[in-house]
Amino acid sequence: MAAKDEQHSPLHILFFPFLAHGHLIPIADMAALFASRGVRCTILTTPVNAAIIRSAVDRANDASLGTDCPAIDISVVPFPDVGLPPGVENGTALTSPGDRLKFFQAAEQLREPFDRFLADHHPDAVVSDSFFHWSADSAAEHGVPRLGFLGSSLFAGSCSDSMLRNNPLETAPDDPDAMVSLPGLPHRVQLRRSQMVDPVKRPDLWELHQRVNAADQKSFGEVLNSFHELEPDYVEHYQTTLGRRAWLVGPVALANMDMAGRGASALSPDADSCMRWLDAKQPGSVVYVSFGTLISFSPAELRELARGLDLSGKNFVWVVGRAGPDSSEWMPEGFADLIARGDRGFIVRGWAPQMLILNHPALGGFITHCGWNSTLESVSAGVPMVTWPRFADQFNNEKLIVEVLKVGVSIGTKDFGSGIETHEVIRGEVIAESIQRLIGNGEESNAIQKKAKDLSVEARRAVENGGSSYNDVGRLMDELMARRSRVKVGEDKPTNYGI
Ligand code: UDP
Repeated sequence: MAAKDEQHSPLHILFFPFLAHGHLIPIADMAALFASRGVRCTILTTPVNAAIIRSAVDRANDASLGTDCPAIDISVVPFPDVGLPPGVENGTALTSPGDRLKFFQAAEQLREPFDRFLADHHPDAVVSDSFFHWSADSAAEHGVPRLGFLGSSLFAGSCSDSMLRNNPLETAPDDPDAMVSLPGLPHRVQLRRSQMVDPVKRPDLWELHQRVNAADQKSFGEVLNSFHELEPDYVEHYQTTLGRRAWLVGPVALANMDMAGRGASALSPDADSCMRWLDAKQPGSVVYVSFGTLISFSPAELRELARGLDLSGKNFVWVVGRAGPDSSEWMPEGFADLIARGDRGFIVRGWAPQMLILNHPALGGFITHCGWNSTLESVSAGVPMVTWPRFADQFNNEKLIVEVLKVGVSIGTKDFGSGIETHEVIRGEVIAESIQRLIGNGEESNAIQKKAKDLSVEARRAVENGGSSYNDVGRLMDELMARRSRVKVGEDKPTNYGI
């Protein structure tokens, strides 16, 4: 049964995020966004992951009390038993390749509760994380339109598509520093060989990318946490050249009612004092340093980063997270005193209130790994970036930030590799110079800062009533409603996505 019994009941969308903060957080924000437009939203996930988004969902539901907007529901299903220790249900908890393999097996086994939900509830659409590529077939079997959610930019999606179609590494010189062009894109995009996924060295990852890309292409369409004004050439490229249907509904973080606790079951005990520390700083004088939720640094890298922050002479807030090597293994001499003095540097251990920090007037720059959420949050706050990518879409996002949008400077990382692989150590002097290029009074930093402020205005405008992202949400809702009517009168077969 694909038709709704009640033609006038609100649209019902199932959101199915991958089991990692960088996927859960924007999905929870997106559910809040659609719920505020009157859509009934359910998020399907496992207990530990539900706890990560609970506070954001609760805040959104509190805000909708007394309105006609339906509350967001979290449908909690058990984490499949694949031999991982209890509580290890999220990408951040993985420390070995063996656990990683089991984790991906567990993710595959979520197909059963996903199928059951579709069979029992027949939602009008499912927004499925692109990593769950198999959900394209499941959704088709149940006659439910699937919207892929890659959690990245259209720019990165276009780069990935070009790479997968053309496999430019096949003909590139076998030199890690060789510059390799991605053909067919609106801009000339070149990466070092060492920054790309090599299908020969990483066949599993290459195959995963192929499956993800194929599943998204055969879906009803894709929703993106981005906005038209950010990457207009790539909206055109995606839709016209690649023939992919995309709705840009971001920055979804701007729909969030929970700027402090967003994405955490427990906020760092340093959070409040960090905000007070920022209050005492001059506007635009502080660099914020955070590498998201999946990246770990070696003691040698941490030591150089500490040296670089010290050498830069600028104020900084550094999120070191809870795990990681003991400070005695990496803190250079004098650094503990620098922090203890409290005049120039503040360290946050645990979960930082990133949205509050980025939007604080004292912020002048962000040293980031270029995770798409952090990137877009920085763009929305008007904060320029020092880019320090490691893996996934991060090298592509760096190109967008530095070369296309011109709101950042690159620190110059060269090697693609996950959080559990070793990386080239970037020298403190290089780090200091990059910070000074970003936060200074030179021509370069003035131009970058102005561009960042302009983009922030565009980002906020996009999500306001009548803005491009606001309108894309409306267009998608209209299309799903029209499809519901067609299915009801039998014009669309349940397995036809209604395109
Ligand atoms: N984040 C946060 N506090 C932290 C660390 C991360 O709020 O201490 C949030 C950040 O705002 C972003 C997300 O976690 O929304 C990280 O996603 P991103 O895509 O930037 O990186 P990933 O962790 O997926 O690599």
